[in-house]
Amino acid sequence: MEMTNTSWIDEFPARIAELDAAHLRRRRRAVAPDTAHPTGPHLLVDGAPMLAFCSNDYLGLANHPQLVEAACTGARAFGVGSGGSPLVSGHSTANRDLEGELAHFVQLPRALYFYAGYATNIGIVPALVGAGDALFSDALNHACLIDGARLSRATVHRYPHADMAALGALLAASTARRKLVMTDAVFSMDGDVADIRALHALCEQHDALLLIDDAHGFGVLGPQGRGTLAEAGLTGPHASQRVLYMTTLGKAAGAAGAFVAGPEPLIEWLLQKTRSYIFATAAPAMLARALSASLRIMEAAEDRRTHLGRLIAQLRNGIAPSLAPNGWRLLPSRTAVQALIIGSNEAALDAMERLRAEGIWVPAIRPPTVPAGTARLRIALSAAHTQEDVDRLLHALQ
Ligand SMILES: *Cc1c(COP(=O)(O)O)cnc(C)c1O
Repeated sequence: MEMTNTSWIDEFPARIAELDAAHLRRRRRAVAPDTAHPTGPHLLVDGAPMLAFCSNDYLGLANHPQLVEAACTGARAFGVGSGGSPLVSGHSTANRDLEGELAHFVQLPRALYFYAGYATNIGIVPALVGAGDALFSDALNHACLIDGARLSRATVHRYPHADMAALGALLAASTARRKLVMTDAVFSMDGDVADIRALHALCEQHDALLLIDDAHGFGVLGPQGRGTLAEAGLTGPHASQRVLYMTTLGKAAGAAGAFVAGPEPLIEWLLQKTRSYIFATAAPAMLARALSASLRIMEAAEDRRTHLGRLIAQLRNGIAPSLAPNGWRLLPSRTAVQALIIGSNEAALDAMERLRAEGIWVPAIRPPTVPAGTARLRIALSAAHTQEDVDRLLHALQ
């Protein structure tokens, strides 16, 4: 045996050590509800009580008693598992009903309900475009849009974040017959909102299809929380033939799953051609029942959205004056996602650890999730937070 000629399979410990050295090793924390505070963002994290600012449960619905009850009732009626792919035996009447309710909620003609948002995007993008077609993708898009683009084999044109002039020029220069523009509606690590109307106008001008990922806007933005597309006025009687709207149901909706909605023929096509839909077990009916309950609550949750808006303002006003001396800066955002840019991976991790020592959990987000040199604290606010919770965070940051 030669010492110099080691198997690549033996190299994993060294490769993990490299992650450690670059402060890029990720760790999971085992989370449990804090029974001393049964509601709200209080958790036991690896056994220690924490006030969390890292949940995407923006409306505080994840442990809502009506969702829990609906899931239990659904499990009693349908069982726990769906038993098969939707195109074989897994499409329960609960899932069918939910699709109608989802389409109604976002004021679009038809919806297709998936088990996860990641699986939705890696499946629908390749179902829409392929080799020889052109994709136009915002530089800060979520990983699942990027991975969907790769799987599609279409030519990918990445435009600088939110740069409509650059996108227009790329669209004008493209000779592809099928063009798909895709964007996060609310950018997941920055919190800013895409200019949906400008994107739609460009798509009209260049005969492109627009795919919007509203993971962080659904339930939060737009009238009755109907999302960023509704806020842009492109739903209901103004729905566009060239827009597909997708979102996860694991964030503001408080459960799990996802859906894509839009014009009838496009949704029918996606049902026929999306491999991540066809070759996967359908989401369980008990979850669909919980989501139906969630939609009813979200529609009427103006109080929660108003409270969330107040917390966002409180955080932004409180942070603005205090952190400039550190060179830390808060990105512009009117959403529940508030990014405090720190810079180096090490400094961001250090800030996270110091907050943790105070019983506050804010995740540090590092490359490759965000560009190198922009490591940050990603503060996620929720209607489940109180003013006192935000005060505690502000105090600890100082
Ligand atoms: C969370 C997220 C997803 C993934 O959705 P899951 O249901 O968690 O798989 C997709 N897109 C964006 C922008 C997200 O933030």
